[in-house]
Amino acid sequence: MARVQNYINGEFQDALNGATLDNIEPGTGAIYGQLPESDAQDIDLAQTAAQKAFSTWRNTTLEERSAILGRIADLIDEQREPLAKAESRDNGKPLALAMSVDIPRASSNFRFFAQALTQFSSEAHESVGKNTINFTLRHPIGVVGCISPWNLPLYLFTWKIAPALAAGNTVVAKPSELTPVTAHLLAEICQKAGLPAGVLNIVHGNGSSAGQAIVEHPGIKAVSFTGGTKTGAHIASVAAPMFKKLSLELGGKNPNIIFADCDYDKMMATTLKSSFANQGQICLCGSRIFVERDLYASFKTDFVSRVAKLKVGPPSDSVDLGAVISSDHQQKILSYIDQAKAEGGEVLIGGNTVNVPECPNGFYLEPTVIEIKDHHCKVAQEEIFGPVVTLMPFDSEQEVLAMANSVPYGLSASLWTSNIDRSMRFAQQIESGIVWVNTWLNRDLRTPFGGIKASGVGREGGLEALRFFTEPKNICISYQS
Ligand code: NAD
Repeated sequence: MARVQNYINGEFQDALNGATLDNIEPGTGAIYGQLPESDAQDIDLAQTAAQKAFSTWRNTTLEERSAILGRIADLIDEQREPLAKAESRDNGKPLALAMSVDIPRASSNFRFFAQALTQFSSEAHESVGKNTINFTLRHPIGVVGCISPWNLPLYLFTWKIAPALAAGNTVVAKPSELTPVTAHLLAEICQKAGLPAGVLNIVHGNGSSAGQAIVEHPGIKAVSFTGGTKTGAHIASVAAPMFKKLSLELGGKNPNIIFADCDYDKMMATTLKSSFANQGQICLCGSRIFVERDLYASFKTDFVSRVAKLKVGPPSDSVDLGAVISSDHQQKILSYIDQAKAEGGEVLIGGNTVNVPECPNGFYLEPTVIEIKDHHCKVAQEEIFGPVVTLMPFDSEQEVLAMANSVPYGLSASLWTSNIDRSMRFAQQIESGIVWVNTWLNRDLRTPFGGIKASGVGREGGLEALRFFTEPKNICISYQS
């Protein structure tokens, strides 16, 4: 494995305190590397480098900025295979998924914002009859912090960094301590692409020390965070009194609502993915399945028999599910399954660890379907973030809408129906930032991305991200006619 180091001011270095954390491979359960256990000193060093680089980077022409970000995208494409192998090993996700989704999306993030920055413009408002013109400048904020989780490591890390850099900011970024490797490889790519020293600084370490120091640093003016709702609430409590700009992309407990008039084959194939892709560790997974009663019995039989065919195994093999991220997470998921049984849920399939003979200490779990009687039960209300879905029938639109909206979260929702009127009624009333009708995880990078309620504050994506990473300044000029 590549030796993971911090990347500060264009140089690779260990944590100033010399401390390291072990990096554990989920597929084998073995320690396979170390990463720096950085603290506030390293964040301060990174912030100083970013501050120094800011005046040059913000004045770099749009063409030059765009060219550098485009080169980063090209290099990610060139290194798709080694990056995918590293991601799969570090995270436990199937290699095929990293090859087809994670790494291509990381390069798309850079390519998209390399182009978007050349199209970003500000507004002018002429106050007719008052001899006044207003125009609004959009300036980069300065040094910004980007903090990302482990489930889609390079995909989500670049989804923040690319727009922050495109808008002219310099960045102090921290990937998850559980999946540091592709962030380290990205630093090598940025160096090769000619990104000037100090423009992007990557610091590794725990959330409670390195992450917390980003949020607390007075010289880091905005924080873009993706992770758990509890962490997001804590970050908001630290950053809000400092008046930092905050974007919080948090947890989800998304409904997958299936009507009898849907395209059954397409729904079934997609529902398998929306339930178990990435071992169910995608914030957008549809972990609460509601099926119209007329279809319920046949859906239940078909779905369970399709789930039975899903292959769980070492992420480097041709499998449908690899390993979950950690032993702790595996135990947490199992405890939710126990809780579901205690609350009267029936495990239709799964519910256990999987013994993979060649990797006996890996963190494997069976894809699990639990039939529930009451949508208020814990397993249907709290985010599990694993290969576990609940299943429940419904009789009417009103009933399923109420059940769908009954959770604290509001990230995404999927609806399967051929009735256009119904899909519009749902889209209007469902409490979520994203609604997919007859599809799932279908993303156009220009569209706003984010959640409501406990799923977050603010939006990423397209111009929303460039707006977040810039500060508008209005200039009002009165003139003589
Ligand atoms: P987490 O909140 O534990 O950690 C996320 C990141 O925050 C990590 O880099 C961590 O080190 C850091 N962190 C932890 N404590 C911190 C602190 N006090 N100050 C600053 N940084 C701190 O989340 P996780 O377990 O890595 O990720 C899983 C969660 O992320 C799930 O809830 C999932 O739904 C959510 N998620 C949301 C989205 C979205 O777009 N809404 C996308 C992916 C994942």
